[in-house]
Amino acid sequence: MARNLNAKCRLCRRAGVKLFLKGERCFTSKCAIVKRNYPPGAQGAKGKPKVTGYGIQLREKQKAKQMYGISETQFSGYFVKASNKEGNTADMMLQMLEMRLDNVVYRLGWAPSRDHARQLVNHGHFMVDGKRVDIPSFQVKVGQVIAPMARSRDDKHFQELPATLEKAETPAWLVCDKRAIEGKVASVPTYEMMAPAFDMKSIIEFYSR
Ligand code: SF4
Repeated sequence: MARNLNAKCRLCRRAGVKLFLKGERCFTSKCAIVKRNYPPGAQGAKGKPKVTGYGIQLREKQKAKQMYGISETQFSGYFVKASNKEGNTADMMLQMLEMRLDNVVYRLGWAPSRDHARQLVNHGHFMVDGKRVDIPSFQVKVGQVIAPMARSRDDKHFQELPATLEKAETPAWLVCDKRAIEGKVASVPTYEMMAPAFDMKSIIEFYSR
């Protein structure tokens, strides 16, 4: 998959919001959005240029795509699939983005960023309903159980997880047994549960042009 190798914090500064791409650093005063909340580049400090119509739609789409860390092809593919489903396209698209296995691992607090979660999934550290899954885009379903592979539990990362998870909040649509390091999909995530930092309506308008 084509990956954007731009400095991650520059993407946040361009978007004007935290995209949470760097794990723990995003929650500290070292965050570039806390220190320099204006676009990167020589002209950036002069402020954010005014955008309207198409510019807003494009910005919202970029924001969401960068937040989930996926390519344009994958992202637009979610729009196509969502528009072929029954129901509200924006809700369907958000559900599919959220129910990717890498995102679920991140939401459960088992990785500090979606990038890290994707790497862990790629390396085959997780099983879904007892079967190893190493595809980050794998769509989890309601009722499925996600857990680290038995052999992965000896890794330092997983050994240290219970302590890290003590303060972690689990989204309402997931259940996390923080001691056993086991997660379950309790329901589909709704728009209200997610309160996304981007505007799905603008994204749908962008692809519907
Ligand atoms: Fe974005 Fe995190 Fe960098 Fe802050 S620290 S600008 S949230 S990637």
